[in-house]
Amino acid sequence: MSTNSVLEKEAATGTNEEKNNILRSTQTVIHQALDKLKYPEEFYELLKEPLRMLTVKIPIRMDDGTVKIFTGYRAQHNDAVGPTKGGIRFHPEVTEEEVKALSIWMSLKCGIVDIPYGGGKGGIICDPREMSFRELERLSRGYVRAISQIVGPTKDIPAPDVFTNSQIMAWMMDEFSRIDEFNSPGFITGKPLVLGGSHGRESATASGVTICIREAAKKKGINLEGARVVVQGFGNAGSYLSKFMHDAGAKVIGISDAYGALYDPNGLDIDYLLDRRDSFGTVTKMFSNTISNKELLELDCDILVPAAIENQITEENAHNIRASIVVEAANGPTTLEATRILTDRGILLVPDVLASAGGVTVSYFEWVQNNQGYYWAEEEVAEKLEKVMVKSFNKIYDTSQNHMIDMRLAAYMVGVRRMAEASRFRGWI
Ligand code: GLU
Repeated sequence: MSTNSVLEKEAATGTNEEKNNILRSTQTVIHQALDKLKYPEEFYELLKEPLRMLTVKIPIRMDDGTVKIFTGYRAQHNDAVGPTKGGIRFHPEVTEEEVKALSIWMSLKCGIVDIPYGGGKGGIICDPREMSFRELERLSRGYVRAISQIVGPTKDIPAPDVFTNSQIMAWMMDEFSRIDEFNSPGFITGKPLVLGGSHGRESATASGVTICIREAAKKKGINLEGARVVVQGFGNAGSYLSKFMHDAGAKVIGISDAYGALYDPNGLDIDYLLDRRDSFGTVTKMFSNTISNKELLELDCDILVPAAIENQITEENAHNIRASIVVEAANGPTTLEATRILTDRGILLVPDVLASAGGVTVSYFEWVQNNQGYYWAEEEVAEKLEKVMVKSFNKIYDTSQNHMIDMRLAAYMVGVRRMAEASRFRGWI
């Protein structure tokens, strides 16, 4: 491992300015996609912001007896195709603009993998790393009470996201079931198996990313066996992905968490690192010979997977990226300017709205199983996910080739079209 030791400040942050930029850049690409598809301007006016945005204040009794008022959001981008769907993140840097952008991305993801949902997203400004188990339970239940009027199995279906997990989904499902006076497993996905969760949901985002990496490698003539892979982020997506890459015979030479990164040109011991990570994906604190997240992104490798947070590849470092393929497992890790630079440099960029859509795809499978009360075997879920991801990847790759555009714009074209058509058929436009 490198001897350069840098304890990075929390990478999972971003200024408010950056988060506003996320919404603006999403709107820019939506506009470009609608223009390419020749939709008139009013479609852009309809789709540039969520249809609904709820801000809530959640008073929570902390363990020390004091009361803290938390702020939460739920955005519902567009429900023309079906109920809205998307995760809830618990993070100190959550902003309204970010939640709005994330809800638009969920609409695009659902359109890309062709599941009958629109996009939604939620967030609470909090730091779960500094809260006790019981405080987290009270906050999860309080949030559900606060948003209960606008969510439900046929209205808006939440799921896990940054720093939320199956336990939090279980509390939320229980709270909603009490309000609904009915056992309501289809209210939320990403639940524990015993409460109606689906096989394969926990690793679904990483499974979808793995399929995209495999398909992208085929296009680039790269053999996965022995390929050098760098993964930024060791949370749900990053940790499972490192394992899947390692098991596929690739060499994972770099991983990181919010505090720093580990590098070994001969391949890291992924099983050991998985064993040592905490529930928030922190593992590098155990090592003194770390490198920075910035250095990690610029390592010489074949495949780079940003699996942490937004705005990691920007115009400042895009020229220094040495991978042939960048696959976005996180939401929004590459800015638009950086997308252009990478594309001009011949790097194949597989965008977030495609690469990370495996999560919501298996969430859909979970909801279908809840609705029918009949549960599928692990192989059945894996087989269905494989089909969906391969088809979606190729559709977007072909669109990008045919229109001579990057895969991000191609993905937006595919994602936005169904929503626009559904809005038109409903007579909204
Ligand atoms: N939070 C995940 C995402 O950003 C999953 C959403 C879901 O399963 O509904 O795609």
